[in-house]
Amino acid sequence: MKALVLDATWDPRAEYTPSPMELETRKALIGSSVWRHPHADFKEVRSPALGPDDVMIRVRRVGFCGSDLHFFETDAAGYIRYPGLTRFPTILGHELAGDIVEVGRSVTDIGVGDPVTIEDMVRCGTCYPCRIGQPNHCENLDEIGFSLDGGFAEYVRVPARNCWSIRNFRKRLATDEQTLYECGAMVEPFTVVYNALVHGAGGLRPGAYTVVHGAGPIGLASVAMLRSCGAARVMVFEVSKPRRELALAMGADAALDPRDGPVHEAVLDATEGLGADLQIEAAGAFVHTLPAMEQSVAIAGTILVIGRDAAHVSIYPEPLQVKRARLVLAKGNAGLGTYPHVLRLMASGRIDPRPMITGRYRFDQILTAIETSRARGHGKILVTVA
Ligand SMILES: [Zn+2]
Ligand SMILES: [Zn+2]
Repeated sequence: MKALVLDATWDPRAEYTPSPMELETRKALIGSSVWRHPHADFKEVRSPALGPDDVMIRVRRVGFCGSDLHFFETDAAGYIRYPGLTRFPTILGHELAGDIVEVGRSVTDIGVGDPVTIEDMVRCGTCYPCRIGQPNHCENLDEIGFSLDGGFAEYVRVPARNCWSIRNFRKRLATDEQTLYECGAMVEPFTVVYNALVHGAGGLRPGAYTVVHGAGPIGLASVAMLRSCGAARVMVFEVSKPRRELALAMGADAALDPRDGPVHEAVLDATEGLGADLQIEAAGAFVHTLPAMEQSVAIAGTILVIGRDAAHVSIYPEPLQVKRARLVLAKGNAGLGTYPHVLRLMASGRIDPRPMITGRYRFDQILTAIETSRARGHGKILVTVA
């Protein structure tokens, strides 16, 4: 079958000592400290074999994520920018939808023909974090499209427990098959936001003033999620004009260029001088966003950091203490009922991801699609595999 395979050289930085687990599994916990000189090939590979607890999915749609781009982009020394879990060579692609075409002999609750999306984090279920209900911190974590073969391929093998049916999208959201698979491939970024907002920050108080910094896919998903949770106002800061327009299309009340003036002043102006009850960092630009959030958080407000940034930054606790504010940091989307709840929000029409889709490419145009998404003017780029 055809697939997009990313490979890189295992060459830990001088100051990074891989753990025994990393050396044994060749899984890097901090990819940006280990993998060098990445290169992608769109090539013929062997189809995966099925285990008893697995299903085989014929991929229909797969999306590009900021993380995918961070595999290709390197620093001056040639190291990849993605700071998380990675093992190469790997077929990329973790935001996908397709049909089940084969099931392992132990699989009973899902069957051939079911349209599904996948939960990309594969947790072990038996380590300490898994056993105390913290699946995002599994010590033996694998991730489809990061350390296991993913969905930029005609077929992907996935543990059955990582599949979620998107059949209910047909009731309201998706009146045709094209929309069904497109929406299915859009679920993953919303689960990242749901995990951070609900499990990390403890949810949103209806009537809250909210701000989102950055309107890439995670920022755009944040806008829709805050709206569906009852935010009184959603304000967005984003440098790209097309992305500001997308933020408005996803339900933001205002979308401003952070370079047009002090961000904290704009937030205070828009909130009667009170500051925002919840601010989401989805830009991965901490050096700019953290000081602005510190100066414009409301009393008992929350700063929620979802964006990833390899930079070391300082924080100034004083304004946060005086406001009794919280700084919450979140990652992941595993378990905890996150997927079924996001699927229900979409199936019911409370969240419609479609305005975020700004690019559609054929499977054989995949390398062009990567180049296009590097310009970062897009919402979500989807590739049609079948
Ligand atoms: Zn993603
Ligand atoms: Zn585990």
